[in-house]
Amino acid sequence: MQHFDIDDRHPMVQQNMNKCIQCAKCVRICDEVTGAEALTLIERGFSSTVGTAFNEPLPDTTCEACGQCVSTCPTAAFTEKRDRFDRNYNELKKVTTTCPYCGVGCSITYRITDEGKIFDVDSSSREGLNKGNLCVKGRFAYKFIQHPDRLKTPLIKKNGKLEKASWNEALDLVASKINESKEKHGSDSIAILSSARCTNEENYVVQKLARAAIGTNNVDHCARLCHASTVAGLATAFGSGAMTNSIDDIDKAETIIVIGSNTVETHPVIGYKIRKAAREGKTNLIVIDPRRIKLAEVAKYYLAQDPGSDVAVVNGLAKIILDKGLADEKFIKERTENYEEYKKSLDDFPVEKVSKLTGIDKELLEKAAIDYGKAKNATIVYSMGITQHSHGTDNVKSIANLAMLTGNMGIEGGGDNPLRGQNNVQGACDLGALPNVYCGYQKVADPKSKEKMEKAWGVELSDQPGLTVTEIIDAAGKGDVNVLYIVGENPMLSDPDVNHVDKSLDNTEFLVVQDIFLSETAEKADVVLPAASFAEKDGTYTNTERRAQLLHKMIEPIGESKPDWEIAQEISNRLGYKMEFTGSSEIMDEIAEVTPQYGGMSHERLKDGGLQWPCPDKNHPGTPILHVGKFTRGKGLFAVTEYKPPIEVPDKEYPLTLTTGRILEQYHTGTMSRRNESIEELAGVAFAQINTIDADKLKVKDGSKVKLTSRRGNITCMAKVNPDIKEGVVFVPFHYAEAKANILTNKALDPVAKIPELKVCAVKVEKA
Ligand code: SF4
Repeated sequence: MQHFDIDDRHPMVQQNMNKCIQCAKCVRICDEVTGAEALTLIERGFSSTVGTAFNEPLPDTTCEACGQCVSTCPTAAFTEKRDRFDRNYNELKKVTTTCPYCGVGCSITYRITDEGKIFDVDSSSREGLNKGNLCVKGRFAYKFIQHPDRLKTPLIKKNGKLEKASWNEALDLVASKINESKEKHGSDSIAILSSARCTNEENYVVQKLARAAIGTNNVDHCARLCHASTVAGLATAFGSGAMTNSIDDIDKAETIIVIGSNTVETHPVIGYKIRKAAREGKTNLIVIDPRRIKLAEVAKYYLAQDPGSDVAVVNGLAKIILDKGLADEKFIKERTENYEEYKKSLDDFPVEKVSKLTGIDKELLEKAAIDYGKAKNATIVYSMGITQHSHGTDNVKSIANLAMLTGNMGIEGGGDNPLRGQNNVQGACDLGALPNVYCGYQKVADPKSKEKMEKAWGVELSDQPGLTVTEIIDAAGKGDVNVLYIVGENPMLSDPDVNHVDKSLDNTEFLVVQDIFLSETAEKADVVLPAASFAEKDGTYTNTERRAQLLHKMIEPIGESKPDWEIAQEISNRLGYKMEFTGSSEIMDEIAEVTPQYGGMSHERLKDGGLQWPCPDKNHPGTPILHVGKFTRGKGLFAVTEYKPPIEVPDKEYPLTLTTGRILEQYHTGTMSRRNESIEELAGVAFAQINTIDADKLKVKDGSKVKLTSRRGNITCMAKVNPDIKEGVVFVPFHYAEAKANILTNKALDPVAKIPELKVCAVKVEKA
């Protein structure tokens, strides 16, 4: 009989092939569902077993650490490396809740011990839209919840040091500073940053605190840094600024364009679906990106564009479609307006010119356009590669034009599908954590909306739209905002031009930070308020496909931490504006009363897999596809979009283009994902991806240290040299505090959405 040594080379997964019965379910799930193709059957006859090519350690293969092998193995030959447990696993408490990481919104079932320890993710669960599939973060990055670094008491800065304080002491101080500022300088001297990681109910209470209790519309959140241009652009074109279709129907498209989205790494479970459909030949996949991302490997056409050339690419495709007679004239006539002007504007985008502007071969542009134009249904999936530009709103409008030109709206497998980054960035927008709209995108400047909300909240409201994230940080630095209350955000890593943010926060008269960890931003605060994590509260998140889903409390709050809504409510009560919610379900009931899209929602109704908005009344089943038969705004509006280069283009001094983003294993500013040892073992080193030819010119070797400098500062990190990025382009993920990518980035804004140009700036790279 064969004996195999236990293979412990993967940080999360242990292989004991002595238990393997060679059913090959792990190989199949890795191949057919995830699409990572890391596992295979090796050897022959009695020696046959599961392994990797050349018996390479799993982390050195194409393994994406999704743990699907663990979830599917019937004999525990693949198991999660975790603490030993001497009781019956099946007796552990099971709680199914919603993933706290990306906007896909996977359901995850956790196992919890009697002592309240989160033991693991129960891989047998098939609940939710993800049907049991998870990515590395959802399956393995849960250790942060009970990490010793969790904030356990309020802190107040005394003599330059944060010291433990009681809740009463901390909240009284916050309320008195808000009152003082309001009396001296007016309500607009106070600003709040709400959070895409907080629940819908919490965002509702936080914006109500700003508007009803303080009297300012200075409330915004990180959607400003990711999808503000989607909200602005799609709302103008269609009347609604959200993903038009459902996750479930993306792979029903005959052609899928993925532009500016590294889907397999940033929205993995959606990435699996697209990759599977492409590999099985069910869809024609077109990938447009300056980096040869994983989806490019299975794409029919991969178009390597120059960063910031999106309007030219998309309008170029539209021009070819028009010239080839592939426009859907019937749809255009019946369902849209302003077409003639748009059509004329496309004369500026002949294919030769577009090829020069974008760096994409003319033939490839033509082939891709014909595929998209001829498909009976085709969808466009995009993300921050489109939105984070000084012309982000134009990028989004161009995409909307392309979908309308081909009649791909209001149909299954069609639409414009912006993938939202953080777990509840859609919900934070929906619930009014934006300076110009109340919940449900009701405009603060519209007297009717204002009157409606004044009646509901029993208080007079300001009709002046507030400041956006970047404007708030600027104003706080200049003394125009005196009290800044930041809930669950970390601008010291997430905002552009971090050195500027650093100075502004240092100059802020009174800074309050509410978080689960002492983040880089919290370290600078005058008062720190400890918040409960997603595991310690009930509520709802709204995922990227507009689906509100329940969150279930798994354990008691750590230390003295409290849910964010409770803290905001206590501040409001101290300011004299009474809020008396006793739970998140009650908050949802108020949300339903004042938010048209959520009118039919309640926690009771969300129990069975959630509901997609609009869900206007108690009998409405929710809306999987928007704009069927009619756009939300009536007719779809074609917009004229001009090509404009990025604000900062390479020159002699800064000859390379920097683009930033996320990687699979880490999440946002790393506060949660980096507090998991196994994740750090896999992806704990900050890096800069550099093209092989550029690296040769710079005499930089793979794995060596490099210094990146922009007009705003410099960072040092490890070089990752490969040909999977366009020559002249450098990619740096923004998760790492020790090499803050956003020290380098440009805070130039899109004039409409006020989103910064995080995706493009000029840098130089040197050996460090
Ligand atoms: Fe969580 Fe997103 Fe991964 Fe799903 S795909 S498990 S929602 S991080």
